[in-house]
This record gives sequence, C-alpha cells and structure tokens, in this order.
Amino acid sequence: MSAKSFSVLGVGTEITTGQIANTNAQWISKRLQELGAPLTAHMAVPDDRALILQAITTLATLSDVIFVTGGLGPTSDDFTRDLITEWVGKKLIFNEALFANLKERLASRNLKVREGHKQECFFPEGSEVLINPVGTAHGFVVQAKGKVLVALPGPPREIEGIWNQSLPTWIEIWTEGLDPQITASWDCMGLPESEVSSLVEPLLTKCPFVKAYRVHLPYIEFKLTYPKSKTAQALPFLQAVTESLSPYTGGDLYKTGTPDVAPENSLYFDFASTSPCEPQVVEAMTPYWNRRFGNSSNSLSSLGRQADKVVEGARKTIGGYLHCEPEEIVFTSGASESNNMALRGTLDYWFQKDPGAKIHFITANTEHRSVLNTFLRLQEIFPKFLEIDILPVSAEGSLDPGLLEKTLKPYTKLVSLMWVNNEIGALHPIPEIAKICEAHKVPLHVDATQAIGKVPFSLQETPITFLSMSAHKIYGPKGVGLAFQRKGALLLPFIYGGSHERGWRAGTLNVPGIVGMAKAFDLSYRTPEVDLKKIVELRAYVLKSLKDRGLEFEVAGGFEKNPKAAVPHVISLTLKASKAIEFNGLEYSKGSACRNDKIEMSHVLKAIHKTEKAAENTFRFSLGRHTTFQECNKLVDLIELKMKS
Ligand code: PMP
Repeated sequence: MSAKSFSVLGVGTEITTGQIANTNAQWISKRLQELGAPLTAHMAVPDDRALILQAITTLATLSDVIFVTGGLGPTSDDFTRDLITEWVGKKLIFNEALFANLKERLASRNLKVREGHKQECFFPEGSEVLINPVGTAHGFVVQAKGKVLVALPGPPREIEGIWNQSLPTWIEIWTEGLDPQITASWDCMGLPESEVSSLVEPLLTKCPFVKAYRVHLPYIEFKLTYPKSKTAQALPFLQAVTESLSPYTGGDLYKTGTPDVAPENSLYFDFASTSPCEPQVVEAMTPYWNRRFGNSSNSLSSLGRQADKVVEGARKTIGGYLHCEPEEIVFTSGASESNNMALRGTLDYWFQKDPGAKIHFITANTEHRSVLNTFLRLQEIFPKFLEIDILPVSAEGSLDPGLLEKTLKPYTKLVSLMWVNNEIGALHPIPEIAKICEAHKVPLHVDATQAIGKVPFSLQETPITFLSMSAHKIYGPKGVGLAFQRKGALLLPFIYGGSHERGWRAGTLNVPGIVGMAKAFDLSYRTPEVDLKKIVELRAYVLKSLKDRGLEFEVAGGFEKNPKAAVPHVISLTLKASKAIEFNGLEYSKGSACRNDKIEMSHVLKAIHKTEKAAENTFRFSLGRHTTFQECNKLVDLIELKMKS
C-alpha cells in the first residue's frame, strides 16, 4: 500500500507530567517531515485508554496511516491488543493461517518469527498483518477500516536497540513511493538579512516547487528544498542561486542531500573508517559548545567548575563500562595519540630510568599505522638500544600466543597489539595474550579502537596495562578518544604543558567531545548484543546473496570459519574478476591504493599473503548499526553489475 497521509500519536507519562510530547513520537514526526511525507497531525495524549482511543478515532479521519508510540504502560502488548479490538470494533482472534503466512513471508526475507511471537499474533478478522521489518521487535501493524494503525509500544529497556533500529525501517516501508524532499544549503558569511530577499527571491518566483528558508547561525545558512522527482528542473536554478550568493559563500558549491542521512546516491559501507554521530550524541554535546563553554581546568570560574563536573561524570560513566577506575582514564584526541602515548611514554620511562640499557618491544605486522610507524620512528631515533620484533600473523590475521611467548626477552618492556584489525576484522586472542604478558610481568598495550562495543571485555578480568580507542568509531565525535593506563603502569607523559589530566596529557579538554563520547558509550553498551545480532545477519545475507548469484569471491579474517576469531562488521572481500574493479556511489575502503603510478598494497593484506593481483580487487565493506537489508541488496546488485560487466 502506498500511503497518502500520516499522523503520529505520542502516548506517554512525560505528557501527563506536563512535559513536551514523548521523544519517540517527535522523532517519527521529524523523520516523516524529512522524507516529505504529508503529516496531517501530531498528537500527544496522557496514559489514558479512553483518550488514546478517542485520539486514534480522530486521527483515522485525518490520515491513512497512524503511528502510535509511547511509554510502557498503556501500549504494552495486552493493551495494544485491547486497543485494536476497540478501534476495529471486533474481537481479536489468534489466526493460525495468518500466523503461518507471516512466518513464510518473514522467511522469504531471511527473517525468523521471534520466540513468543505466536502469543502476539492476535489480529482482527479480515485484517492484514504486515511484516515487522526486523522480525524481532515488538509492534503491530493492522489494516482495518481502510486505515493502517502502526502500533509501536515504547521500547522496554532490553529491546530499545532493536526498536530504534526498526523504526526507520517501519517508516521507510510506509513512505515508500513518496517523493522525498532534497535540501540544498549555502553557508553565507556576512550576508545581511535584507539582501537574502533581494538576491534570491526574484529567482524563487521562477521555480514554484522550490521552498526557501534560512537558519540563523553566527552567519546565515540559506536553504532550499525541492522534491527529488524535480531534481533535473531544480539544478539550473540552484546554479543561479549559487552564483548570486557567491560573494558570501566564497564561491562554494551548495550542499545537497536529505537532512541527517548520507549524501544522495551514496551507500555507506565504511563504518570501520568512521561512523555518524548518533542524534543523542549531538544532543548531549550541544550545550557544551556555547551555553556551557567553560574550561574544565579553570576552577575559579563557575562555568569551568560545571565543565569539570561533566568531564568527571563522563570519566566515571566510561570507567563503569570498561570496568576500570575513572582515574585510570586519560582523555586524548583519539586512538593515534593514545597509541603514541603508550609507546613513547614507556620508552621514555625506561630510557630515563636506565639510559642506554637495552629495551625490547613486540608488535605484529598487521597493526595500525599509528603503532607500526611510531615504532619504526623510535627505532630510527634510538637504533643502538631499542629492539623491536614485528611478528607475523596467521593466514586469518591472528597472532599465535605461543610465538609471542617465545619472543619475549628479559628486557621486553612492552607488547603492543590491536584487539580487532581494522582492515579484515580479525582478532588477536587478547585474553590469552594478556595472561602470558602478566605471567612474564610485561605490560600489554591494546589498541581497542575497533573492539569497543563489538567485543565484550572487562578490564577487571583482562590484565591489560594500556588501552586506546577513538569515539568516532562508536557513533561519537571525531577528534576525541581515551587512553586507559592501569594504576602503577610504568610510563612518562607524552604531551607536556599544563597540569590537565593529572599531568598525563597537557591541553585544554575537549569538553563537548568528551560528553559526546560518554553518550556514545552509553548507546553502544546498552544493547551490544542487539547490534551484533543484526550485523551477523546482514553479513550472512550479503555473502549468501553473492553466492546465490554465482559470483566468485574470498573473505578474509576467518569469521565464517570461527566467529570468535573475528568481528562480523568487516567484510574484506576479494572478488575474482578479470579486471580491476572500482565502485562509484559507494563508500568503502580498498585493499590497495595507487601512489606515484605504483599500486601500493595494504600492509595487512600483504601480511596475510594476498597477492598484488588479489589486493587490487580486495574491498573492505564495513557494516554498522544503521546498515539496512535494502542497502545490502543494493551493494550486492552493484557488485554483480561490476563483476559481470
Ligand atoms: N587504531 C585502529 C585499529 C584504527 O582503526 C584507527 C582508525 N582507523 C586508529 C587506531 C586511529 O584512530 P584515530 O584516527 O581516530 O586516531
């Protein structure tokens, strides 16, 4: 069914207590508006059956599809069932045929009926049950009286992740066939308000389907929206606007795209490179850019004390998730800095203690450049007393703990290994390695940048001495991360200056970034198993679809052989094609790059013995919390097209 009009009903205790309509309903309304869906009404009612029923009845006269969402109480399954019974005016029955049909349709989409779903399949006679797109979340969709009721019970804590994931898909399904709005925007520095009208409004009259508005930041951001179907007619008009605004934009081209989503026509499969900030992260950070802009190290200012309080709160939150003391966390600009801190700080400590004595470090040949290049540079500076062993890994990309143990020397001062490899997703057996290092009293540094939120661990149980990570890999902001340093760890600071971070890392703290990182931790640790389950399904779906289409490929990292040896998020795919393939309109990473007319192969692929030829057609497609089955279908279509052309 292609719906014509929509309404949203928010039910929740927040409303009874006089606060604004619940956030879920707000989110649905916002998303519908972004998609250009005709939104006829947004209502909010308290937790009261009579009022809810009255609202639904009213909304049914105004729109074709009603999204109902709210708190746990009234929209629990029982209540939803009662509500629908009343709304439809018929008793709900368990319909075996409908249930079987639902099961079959879910199976055709590679989804399964969730355990306990049978008890929930009570539907009014003659109603059609539409598939819950993730096959797991609560929720009913009932068609009756020519209207559709999408009842989404507010998320109980344990399914919040699934619920949030399924929401966009619900909306996508119901807005299918609509013409989404595209937004074009220009940042105009120094443009006086009065001139916007004289510059742009005469042009606007020529293009009636384009709507204009402006946002007042410290400068004016001028925006236009137009239906996607009218892109061709809109383009010359956008060029004209670009020209007329060029004195204020510095000639910058306009930015277009539907708000809050990836750029038009782009398929994002590069989550291991970076991930978008979750809206809740942005929201949490917002006050700390301007309203609460204090310098957390200035205890004389009340804004400073406020900032310090929030930074210490974030430290405590993150410490709770990692199972370490808050004081063992040092905020940094990201994993590259944290890695440098552990490596250089350890070297400095031992150099100061006993200048000229031999120092031995161990790492592996698939580590991130911020570890390998730091080691190489340190060896250049201190060739006489610094020894570094860069160990080979298995064909799957994992380090043999036996080999590591054999390589240890009496003067080994640090072992540095990543938990999850960013190019192929392979894991080093860190818990086992940590025990070996502990037994030999050698500190272990773990680059956990790709592991946080993906591999469950506790710093209380795993004897790791140093750990690094970056917030932007877990849907937090870029340019902020942390270094964990276990109490008593032997190292010296790396960045000198003021006494920030108890002297461990000088420099004014990135307060909004730290707040955003703590929020990103919150979201990643709330339902990690939900994120993981979805990613496993998406991965299996991509690989099965490629196989079903008769395409030949190899996957690195070893996840298929042993799901404990790698994370499912990274699909390092070597396509068996006769010529080198490039993808347009797709965001991904490649196993080799062309530099100075020479193909330069990634050191990770080299380490797992890929040939140069294979590396040419090796691609890293990394999946994330926001990846959908529809996007995976498009990816597979694109791969098939390229391999067969
Ligand atoms: N280590 C690993 C394993 C990574 O994947 C990355 C980012 N690609 C880094 C370190 C460096 O992170 P950042 O660029 O945020 O400093």
